[in-house]
Formats: sequence, C-alpha cells, structure tokens
Amino acid sequence: MRRKIYHARLMSARPFIDSLDFARNGNEISGEVPFAGMSRLLGELESPDGVLHYTVRGGVDRQDVPFLDIGMTGDCRLRCQRCLGALEHPIRIDTRLLLRDQAELDALEDDEEAFDSILAEAKLDVLGMLEEEILLSLPIAPRHEAGDCQAAGGENAGKGKENPFAALANLKVVK
Ligand SMILES: [Zn+2]
Repeated sequence: MRRKIYHARLMSARPFIDSLDFARNGNEISGEVPFAGMSRLLGELESPDGVLHYTVRGGVDRQDVPFLDIGMTGDCRLRCQRCLGALEHPIRIDTRLLLRDQAELDALEDDEEAFDSILAEAKLDVLGMLEEEILLSLPIAPRHEAGDCQAAGGENAGKGKENPFAALANLKVVK
C-alpha cells in the first residue's frame, strides 16, 4: 500500500501534488492556510483575518475516473455591497473534482460535468485549486439581511420610490 497522508505544516508553505498519482494512490493532504495568503480571494474580502482548514483526499470512482474530494471550513468576512461593512461568511465546502486531461475537458465543453472537472496536472497547486473553488462559491452580490445592514434603514425609509429590484432581492432571500 503506497497510500500517503500529508500534513501541509510539515511540507513547504505551498503544497503541490502530482494529481493523478495522488488520486490513484488514495493519498490525503490537510492543513491550514490564512486567508491573508490567498491573494485572489483577498480582493473579495473585507478583512484578511481568518484561517481556512482543508483536506484533500484522492480516489478513483466506479467509472475509473480519478478524483479529488475537497473539504474546506473557515470563517471569512465579505464586504456588504449595500453598506460596504463586514459580512460574516462561513465557508463550508465539500465537493468532488474529477481529474481530466485536456482532450476530455475539451470534449465536455459546456456539459454539466465540466463544472466538476479540473485539469489533471502533474504539479497541481493545491491552494490555487482551493482558492478557485472558494471564489466560485461566493455570492455575486453579498449583502447583510435587511435588518442587519447599516444602509437598510435609509433605503427602506423612502417607500414612495422603492427600487423595483429590492423586491426581487427579498424574494431571493426568502427562497
Ligand atoms: Zn450591509
């Protein structure tokens, strides 16, 4: 059995894996990384505070497709689009990414499966992959609930000229 379990604290600061090898051997890597170290994500955050905990497990599914199971938890702070204040945002992501070669990815094109597939790189940047998944999961226009938003009072006060989109936004929240 060549299965290996790594902990990123014992490795270099930025772990890279041979993705296919990692999956076929059922390897596992886990660690913590401060949000401050994720430069693309940082642009979406109100504050660099907080730490992301992650685990990546490799495997092969019944169709013999290698995959990475990703688990991430962490509490970050987004910027409310209405009042620009801090908005607590818990990251709870459990997802499976299928490893595909370039030809397979091209063949999938806009197929739904393409969203769950990544390129099977020989030197996969683990943190880059995690960061990408977080970015994809973030709300497009993060906002406080109406009662919690510092800008909400002013907006609701002017009932005579209500923004027609405000009603739509509320509907979305209810759903
Ligand atoms: Zn707000």
